[in-house]
Amino acid sequence: MLRQKHTTPSIMQRLVFLILAQLLTTGTCDTNPGPEHEEKHEGNMLDHWNYEDQDWSKDHKLCNGKSQSPINIDTRKTLSDKTLPVITLEGYKLPETESLTLTNNGHTVALLLPDSMSISSGFSQKYVAAQLHFHWGSEITPGSEHTVDGIQFAAEMHVVHYAAKYGSLAEAAQKADGLAVLGVLFQVGPQDNKNYDYIFDKLQDVAEKGVNVHIPGFDINTLLPSQLYHFFRYNGSLTTPPCFQTVTWTVFNETVQISQAQLDKLETSLKTGDRTLDSNFRHVQPLNGRTVFASFSSLASSRRIVPKEDSTESEGDDKSGSESGESGIYSNNRVDGSYFTLGDMLATIFGILFGCTALAFVIYVMKQRKRQRSNTETGQKVIYKPAATTEA
Ligand SMILES: [Zn+2]
Repeated sequence: MLRQKHTTPSIMQRLVFLILAQLLTTGTCDTNPGPEHEEKHEGNMLDHWNYEDQDWSKDHKLCNGKSQSPINIDTRKTLSDKTLPVITLEGYKLPETESLTLTNNGHTVALLLPDSMSISSGFSQKYVAAQLHFHWGSEITPGSEHTVDGIQFAAEMHVVHYAAKYGSLAEAAQKADGLAVLGVLFQVGPQDNKNYDYIFDKLQDVAEKGVNVHIPGFDINTLLPSQLYHFFRYNGSLTTPPCFQTVTWTVFNETVQISQAQLDKLETSLKTGDRTLDSNFRHVQPLNGRTVFASFSSLASSRRIVPKEDSTESEGDDKSGSESGESGIYSNNRVDGSYFTLGDMLATIFGILFGCTALAFVIYVMKQRKRQRSNTETGQKVIYKPAATTEA
């Protein structure tokens, strides 16, 4: 595995530790200075990365590693593994008396979570919650990091957890089994998702980079999809420098809906320096032979039908997303909230039915025309002759 190999270990370790201690207070897929670092302080070398130029490996070698995130999840290549244990969350229902910090760290908005929250089962060990944060696009592009069959979603939320045995996020972030991140994909629906108001209503209060506010505890479960047992699993990395390849990713199959107004808020409320903080998503990374597992079979995935709504546009951000075949699947995704083979099958069945109907219709029309033509010819004679005879 790639690791930084320069300088003496003790200095390096200490530096990394300092960096990661900061990370703990703000974000993990997001590793920028915490709220205590004011936006004007440009001295921190870690903050010198941005989303416009994603060639981060110049300063962060690991960003060029073989197990990077995010990825495109090609559902036809996922391996169904129904033995993947169901995820159980503990302590997610926070009391109002809990004070949570919401912060704009210049790369995202993060909600810091208490260590009383955890993934109690679903992995071979316990993972403790650290924070959740968002990735979004702009008026002209969707902003999820993971894509499914080439489709990029409106936005994405990451709930970051670290292995309890390591004691802290900073310590765990560098361990192979150190982190577990839950990924939630967003779609635009017709209604506000009130569960997100706790966070979205406060976005304007953390508009400036480095600012944080406190919000009362609420039920974090309500931010997640209802079907936690349908998910994709793979080994990847932080999606921001230093790109540690220590994340066991869980991307839920079911999407969460928010309204267009809520998405607009996310895309326009925050600033980083003088500009709007938007399009904070990393481009998908090569799979490099990794296997993506699905906790369900394709058919099981499509039982849930979500009412059709107006969703985000694909905007051609992905190579395959704009192919005609894919856009058909995309329409299904938007209706189902799940994206897989049943959708494909239904599309195929309806396609065939439509084809047959169309063919039958064409044949019918042709027959009718033929009949009409012969009728017309006959008709002319018929009309003509009787007219001649009756007048006579
Ligand atoms: Zn993230």
